[in-house]
Amino acid sequence: MKKPEAALKKIFGFKKFRPYQKEIITNILEGRDVFASLPTGGGKSICYQLPALLFEGITIVMSPLVALMKDQVDGARAYGIEAYCLNSSLSPMETADVYQALEAGKAKLLYISPERFAIDGFSENLKKFNVSFVAVDEAHCVSEWGHDFRPDYLSLSRIREFFPGSVIAAFTATATLKVQEDIIGLLKMRDPFLVRASFDRKELYYRIVPKNGANRQIYEFIRKRKKQSGIVYRLSRADVEKTAAYLSEKGIKALPYHAGLASKTREKNQDLFNRDEVDVVIATIAFGMGIDKSNIRFVVHGDLPKSVEGYYQETGRAGRDGLPSECLLLYSAGDIAKIHYFIDKISDENEKVRANRNLNNISNLASINVCRRKQILEYFNESYEGNCGACDICNGEAEQVDGTVDAQKVLSAIVRSGQRFGIGQIIDIVRGADTEKIRKFGHNELKTWGVGKDKSKVWWSSIVNELLGQKHIYRDPDSFNALKLNESGGDILYGRAGFSVLMKKEKEPEKKLNFR
Ligand code: ADP
Ligand code: ZN
Repeated sequence: MKKPEAALKKIFGFKKFRPYQKEIITNILEGRDVFASLPTGGGKSICYQLPALLFEGITIVMSPLVALMKDQVDGARAYGIEAYCLNSSLSPMETADVYQALEAGKAKLLYISPERFAIDGFSENLKKFNVSFVAVDEAHCVSEWGHDFRPDYLSLSRIREFFPGSVIAAFTATATLKVQEDIIGLLKMRDPFLVRASFDRKELYYRIVPKNGANRQIYEFIRKRKKQSGIVYRLSRADVEKTAAYLSEKGIKALPYHAGLASKTREKNQDLFNRDEVDVVIATIAFGMGIDKSNIRFVVHGDLPKSVEGYYQETGRAGRDGLPSECLLLYSAGDIAKIHYFIDKISDENEKVRANRNLNNISNLASINVCRRKQILEYFNESYEGNCGACDICNGEAEQVDGTVDAQKVLSAIVRSGQRFGIGQIIDIVRGADTEKIRKFGHNELKTWGVGKDKSKVWWSSIVNELLGQKHIYRDPDSFNALKLNESGGDILYGRAGFSVLMKKEKEPEKKLNFR
């Protein structure tokens, strides 16, 4: 077997492997299945292109990006790899040519879309070829826990059966442990070699601020970043159009992109953006899967995304060249209500539970006074400590208020009621509510009953959420989500913590000036 290093140099012209590439490739070549989650730009393509060259038989790459397949084939050919693709966009003639190359043993690398693979008889046809290796790209699409589930991907559960002798490798740029389990299970991987690279995108600066006039805020942000390439995401097509019009009117070179536009227009707008002829694309999340523009300097979210994973994925399109780039998210309570409205319409119970959990995670990310990077990485089961230096929280951009005394009131209510009650009851105690449940448990006789009458329910729930987010208290799932204290919660309550509980100060929305 040829040395992978030699091939890397000779074929791709690179001197060194990027982190994990060598381990991944060596394992594949030795016949072991591989599961690899590497961040975008990590260099996944080489992990299957290089084995494709070194294996005897054919390498199949499953990829959902039909629109990009031609580019991928051209890219591989530029390195002298005999690459082909099969998908719904080929004419019967072109398809016949591909089969001819396969029969002749000429093809080394074959890109297939899962929708093709799902067609009966299609994979039967492939069985007769000597397939050494099957790589599944964007593998998170198999999982309903991922942010981009594709039903067609479920057909990939048959890869093992069709190609029992081949190595299977799965690649993804985003995978929580749940998604990872789904992928390994569905693809029937055998004791795969696991790679989980860090998801920390050091070049990205995260900033999340309350929304009060999205278009104006977006314009103010972009105005100070002249000539920079960026994406602005909006939740609805109507808002995409409005923001695009607003920015254009202010002299920003901006174009819209959403699924409601004619495909010609979409292609044209994307093309102008790729060639740096427009600076900003205003888009729904339909824009981006497979964007390959390395110099995107900022990603703005004009509305709260539906999940942390989606947010990570979308912001991840900035800074692929490794240069510092910025992410700005505007959020409001109205965004949460809007997403709730969509969730209520979901009929599938499991999907509903997931959507609610996703919403909970993303609204915590936006509202809790904890390093954004730490929260994102913890979502991906990666721990992170210390000041990241590249988010609004760590840089003290958000105005903070000392919430220690109010935190103590909440903690005291939790302790005095025996750590047996959930958020609602605790807030009722603090605010001195006179409900049946309060009287039933004698909570109106607690010393803490009514100590927080002067402040709103919203304020008290943000205190509770902050304590949860900073892990001073937790919800006990074994006791109906009752709130309980962690050690640091006790320290705060008894005034021996040695730190304050800092809360982000919520700015009042700016009042509209009334000209008469
Ligand atoms: P991913 O699919 O993980 O987002 P790609 O496979 O598209 O990443 O690789 C990103 C870029 O890095 C490509 O331009 C690729 O040519 C380059 N690249 C990959 N591996 C190496 C390497 N070992 N040395 C230098 N450049 C590399
Ligand atoms: Zn930080």
